[in-house]
Amino acid sequence: MADCIFCSIVDGSIPSNKVYEDDRILAFYDLEPQAPVHVLVIPKQHICCADKIDESNSDIVAYIFAKIPFIAEKLNLSNGYRIVNNCGEDGCQSVKHLHFHLLGGKKLNSRMA
Ligand code: AMP
Repeated sequence: MADCIFCSIVDGSIPSNKVYEDDRILAFYDLEPQAPVHVLVIPKQHICCADKIDESNSDIVAYIFAKIPFIAEKLNLSNGYRIVNNCGEDGCQSVKHLHFHLLGGKKLNSRMA
């Protein structure tokens, strides 16, 4: 999709520090990490947000979650991690392309909001 930063990362016109890639998803380091390890996992297809997941596209979410343990292992997150999705205005979603934050590398704050 035009004017989508993460679509530009998928097509290579914006560089990223990749951790994992296959034909359906991409994982790359967040530009402004909020934990010692902060990676974003995104579908290559453009879905704006969690609020637009339905029966026609939810398979990609299952696929992402099936790959996260493998990505976490690559990142040495054997002691655990947090998966975060921000959705919409109140969820403080800044990039309107579905993504899951994978955060870890230390004991995280127990509060989430
Ligand atoms: P969110 O606020 O949940 O929409 O998260 C968007 C995330 O994308 C933020 O943590 C940003 O730091 C990150 N981000 C934005 N642009 C880039 C980029 N070009 N490469 C890597 N991470 C980015």
